[in-house]
Amino acid sequence: MSDKLQRTLIILKPDAIHRGIVGEIIDRFEQKGIKIVGMKMAKLSDLLLDKHYAQHKGKHFFEPTKKYMQMLPVVLVVLEGLEVVRVVRTMCGPTDGRNAPPGTIRGDYSGAISRNIIHASEDEKAAYREIKLYFKTTEIFGYDKPDAHFYYDVERGE
Ligand code: GDP
Repeated sequence: MSDKLQRTLIILKPDAIHRGIVGEIIDRFEQKGIKIVGMKMAKLSDLLLDKHYAQHKGKHFFEPTKKYMQMLPVVLVVLEGLEVVRVVRTMCGPTDGRNAPPGTIRGDYSGAISRNIIHASEDEKAAYREIKLYFKTTEIFGYDKPDAHFYYDVERGE
């Protein structure tokens, strides 16, 4: 297995659910050849959000962000692919949708930093921590895709 093979967590936030764009967004990752290995819907508790956004505790946007994340349930997805942590962050774009370039998810769908559609783990350490926070090991599925050779060089991990 390539040492570049990683997993990351994305969260389709309540605005994505309300606007009915969950499928469109997940489709982008599938079209890129990124594999879905876990997916579920959940209402995020105070406790989970306190853990998830622990590094932002005390900042002006901490409480509003928690409130926003609890407006509706969210969709949580674990994605797998080569260097997928960085690739997915790039596909999401910068935090503030108004500064995010067209072609990125936030650039195409978000007009405000407070309503930015999607969360994606920041780095490999965060991905490990966040996947563990939301998913049991039995909720993540490793499997082979027969057409993987058409998305990347499987032998060389390139
Ligand atoms: P991310 O990794 O790009 O999601 O950005 P951060 O980790 O810096 O922030 C976490 C989340 O808090 C963001 O995705 C936004 O939902 C929210 N957030 C960050 N900065 C602000 C801000 O200045 N104002 C508001 N209202 N929300 C913010």
